[in-house]
Amino acid sequence: MIVEPKIRGFICTTAHPDGCARHVADQIAVVRSRGPIENGPKRVLVVGSSTGYGLSSRIAAAFGCGASTIGVFFEKPGSERRPGTAGWYNSAAFEKEAADAGLYARSFNGDAFSDEMKATVIEAIKEDLGQIDCVVYSLASPRRIDPKTGETYKSVLKPIGETYTNKNLNTATKVVDEVTIEPAEGDDIEQTVAVMGGEDWEMWIDAMLEAGVLAPGATTVAYSYIGPEVTWPIYKNGTIGRAKEDLEKSQRALDGKLAPLDGKAWVSVNKALVTQASSAIPVVPLYISLLYKVMKARGSHEDCIEQMDRLFRERLCSGTPQPDEAGRIRIDDWEMDPAVQAEVDELWTRVDSDNLLELADVEGYESSFLRLFGFGLEGVDYSADTDPATGVPSIS
Ligand code: NAD
Repeated sequence: MIVEPKIRGFICTTAHPDGCARHVADQIAVVRSRGPIENGPKRVLVVGSSTGYGLSSRIAAAFGCGASTIGVFFEKPGSERRPGTAGWYNSAAFEKEAADAGLYARSFNGDAFSDEMKATVIEAIKEDLGQIDCVVYSLASPRRIDPKTGETYKSVLKPIGETYTNKNLNTATKVVDEVTIEPAEGDDIEQTVAVMGGEDWEMWIDAMLEAGVLAPGATTVAYSYIGPEVTWPIYKNGTIGRAKEDLEKSQRALDGKLAPLDGKAWVSVNKALVTQASSAIPVVPLYISLLYKVMKARGSHEDCIEQMDRLFRERLCSGTPQPDEAGRIRIDDWEMDPAVQAEVDELWTRVDSDNLLELADVEGYESSFLRLFGFGLEGVDYSADTDPATGVPSIS
């Protein structure tokens, strides 16, 4: 089958198996080029391992630290007639590369929020690895089914208290227009916290502690974002920000629970990057396009893999995590550099549809977005037939 990109709003509904494989191989090459990561975990569970930060975490752990990895994700396999999702092909490629490198890798496709998935993964850990040294929690989801009550929670991206209006990039038409978002109402905040807060992260760690599958000294890390003031009404001070506050509350609780093992829980604040999750947030694509322009010009731009390599190499495994005053790891430090933010601020006030292509890295945004789905990668013959039914080896 010839697979082409089909863009609908902020999502691409097709994915290219060979392109995704190339994307994974490129990320592995970045980690390898930096050499082995010393003192890294050797058995790693990544919840949300198929795309974005979770995929790059799995790659950094495996190809940097030499870790055996178990990955959990929610993706659609392809069939003879229809391509699957990018995360499916990424995971297929990851496992093949891991096998070639002699690294254990096993994957589970299904709902990470469910009790069943937790039990299945814990069984696999017991069978194959005994215990886990590091749990990366990197889920981004619009909904969650409560495993105890069966209730479905829905997360929303809304400001709190007042209507928010700001510039916005329409990525399809390349027009800078304005977006107005009405404030959260009813139980929007509680619902968003229930999906993107820390409850499920705690459930994973609780279940693993109870089953005795966390090794002495085990660490766990979940990801957050803070960003600049221009995005605060929709992010840090919005419904998603409340969920991230809850995540930090869980981090403190988990820190206590892991103490008897001499373990540690972290929240890592990461850089704003193009991922399937971030492209759905209003205002953020314009901010990212301006940020990429500034950081690329300064030579400080990083993508998910450079971020995750730096997280493992320089913070989690180095003995120098450099927490901020709230105890969070900050690998958004280069993004939040005051000089970078001053430049982005200045561009933000000036940017409009006429000067967009000059002031913002729209091309970089678009190519990053397409790469998420395996399109536009060098060395891939997009005119050749590809097999959409490519499988993930450990999932029969
Ligand atoms: P992403 O959309 O690329 O990845 C989400 C992952 O979660 C995928 O592997 C997906 O399969 C998995 N997933 C979703 N629902 C699931 C379910 N029910 N069961 C199992 N797996 C499921 O997202 P991302 O941008 O990499 O976000 C990961 C984390 O990083 C989030 O907490 C996000 O807030 C945080 N973060 C993102 C950014 C950014 O700019 N993208 C910046 C800082 C922090």
